[in-house]
Amino acid sequence: MNDKKTIETSISHRERILGGLWGSLVGDALGVPVEFKDRATVQADLVTGMRGFGTHNQPPGTWSDDGALTLCTVDSLLNSEFDPQDMGNRFVRWMNDGLWTATGSVFDIGMATTDALMRIASGTSAEQAGGCDEYSNGNGSLMRILPVVLRFANDPVDRFVGRIDRVSSITHGHARSKMACVFHGWVVRHLLQGWKPQPALQAARVGFTERYERTPEFPRFQRVLADDLATLSEKKVASTGYVLSTLHASHWCLLTTASFEECVLKAVNLGGDADTTGCVAGGLAGVHYGLSAIPEEWRKTLLRHNDVESLFNRFADMAPPIT
Ligand SMILES: [Mg+2]
Repeated sequence: MNDKKTIETSISHRERILGGLWGSLVGDALGVPVEFKDRATVQADLVTGMRGFGTHNQPPGTWSDDGALTLCTVDSLLNSEFDPQDMGNRFVRWMNDGLWTATGSVFDIGMATTDALMRIASGTSAEQAGGCDEYSNGNGSLMRILPVVLRFANDPVDRFVGRIDRVSSITHGHARSKMACVFHGWVVRHLLQGWKPQPALQAARVGFTERYERTPEFPRFQRVLADDLATLSEKKVASTGYVLSTLHASHWCLLTTASFEECVLKAVNLGGDADTTGCVAGGLAGVHYGLSAIPEEWRKTLLRHNDVESLFNRFADMAPPIT
């Protein structure tokens, strides 16, 4: 498939990588003030831009755990080619010392992530640290997986999937969480090549189905694999902290909107786990629409803007050209 209906070539690979990274951070920061608020409450006072305070009483432009762990992952990939132990160690430094936080403090952390990082801190190897039980399927690895996807999108599928699995396992080792990260990564892999959202999703569905259809967790993914994802009404789209809810909601937001702004605001205004839905949807929309589609004012409002810009530019510089 390489006709104009499927592929958009006017956005450079670098613009897509930077768009994904900035889009994640912006989406997270837009959602932080309304995290945990129910949908009706959020929709009575819609988020339309960067706000401060609210749920966590943080200044405008503050990212949360989603953004900080994404930044730690980018930093790790700049320091070693691929080292999950190094990533895990950086995550521990985030939890204990505030590494890559916006303000120096950690104001939000998931339970599965806390448990896993305490294990790493006491000597468990990072790839063995994530919980593997069915109740450890929050969105805590999906929200931080994007840099690994962007860095290794050119790899053969087996290695691409293997690396995503290993990085999910640092905090989330259950097959459902790992498969959600892989599904998301598979869509992003195609968006990076310029595929439009619907064909990118379709290609991901085909590859994902071939790989997993005989595994026990596969039936859980029916919803994201079904043709009608784009036509679901909002009330059928949950926005909790469950990994499959975040996966559905973020891809639904990309499919049902026509700009970066519209996509990420729709995600945040679903309420619930607003920052994480915003972060994952912002990553998708940033890769699809590119860096220049992200309102500059939103990027400039992010705290530590210069530190983030320098980190992201270094990451984009080393990313291999897409083949
Ligand atoms: Mg968060």
